[in-house]
Amino acid sequence: MPYIEHDPTNSHTFKTHLLKSKRILALCGAGLSASSGLATFRGAGGLWRTHDAMSLATPQAFVKDPSLVWQFYSARRQAAFSAKPNAAHLALAALSVKNKDFITVTQNVDGLSPRAGHPPEQLYPVHGALSTVKCTSVFCSYTEYNNFKMALTPALGPTRAPADADTQPANIPLNELPFCPKCKIGMMRPGVVWFNETLPNDLLEGIDEWIDQGPIDLCLVIGTTGKVWPAAGYIEICKEKGARVAVINMEINDDPHLGGVNNADWLFKGDCAQILPDILQPIIGSMEEVRELLGDMDKFPATTTSGGPVTDINNATTGEETVERTGEGTGYY
Ligand SMILES: [Zn+2]
Repeated sequence: MPYIEHDPTNSHTFKTHLLKSKRILALCGAGLSASSGLATFRGAGGLWRTHDAMSLATPQAFVKDPSLVWQFYSARRQAAFSAKPNAAHLALAALSVKNKDFITVTQNVDGLSPRAGHPPEQLYPVHGALSTVKCTSVFCSYTEYNNFKMALTPALGPTRAPADADTQPANIPLNELPFCPKCKIGMMRPGVVWFNETLPNDLLEGIDEWIDQGPIDLCLVIGTTGKVWPAAGYIEICKEKGARVAVINMEINDDPHLGGVNNADWLFKGDCAQILPDILQPIIGSMEEVRELLGDMDKFPATTTSGGPVTDINNATTGEETVERTGEGTGYY
């Protein structure tokens, strides 16, 4: 019989370690939002079953067919903004309030962690946010954060997104898609990181700075297999800095690599909305106390904006006349 130091499914040994842990890093994926009723990226329902969702999440797809891509993202925005933060979002938000040396790196773009009251300075949404929309013009940097409107334009309203898989998306004219209110010429795009795009450098630098500040005691891998970069890389970095690793996911099976996480110290299989409130309880208290701590359970953060046209478009040498709303030739990145 192999020697087993402890039962990896035993929450008592986890809780003992949690109480000793000062610096904690959480990595979150789609499973965190599963019990909020959000389909995973690849499981987007309705008419999007007939489209390969991955092929829509690219800059090339947006240039080729902005109407189709905007309808896909409008459907995702409406689903995310209608969903509610679950107990797992609340538990992580509470742990953040209790421990200022706890950071969360999330691949989720649904905005449910901010709405749960997760302190923004301790949250790193490395794949962007559905509630961010930004201008695509190379001459303009206008960006809106926390834009939770259900319909960015009348044409992108919920009634235009049929749930029937056999119905084709409408071909919305370009002038009915979202355009930049500042420069007036750039089409707005979702502020998510698409395939073939790089992750936001400022966020990655912020995570690196935190990592460099000292040893790490605990790494929580939540609702993700941990196979995808950057999650996989951060698990290894945490282990090098001394962290013990706990995996909380529906998808823990007999994979010898434990869902991509070699030699994790704890494996909690199931819904993280049930598991996290339990295993974090020594720090965050009961869910009643969590709700008291966080106050309003569903806060939509206020909309803010940044950036704008680099030069006055009317004075630009190209002249306003020559700029058409073709959706082509702008700087997608
Ligand atoms: Zn603009």
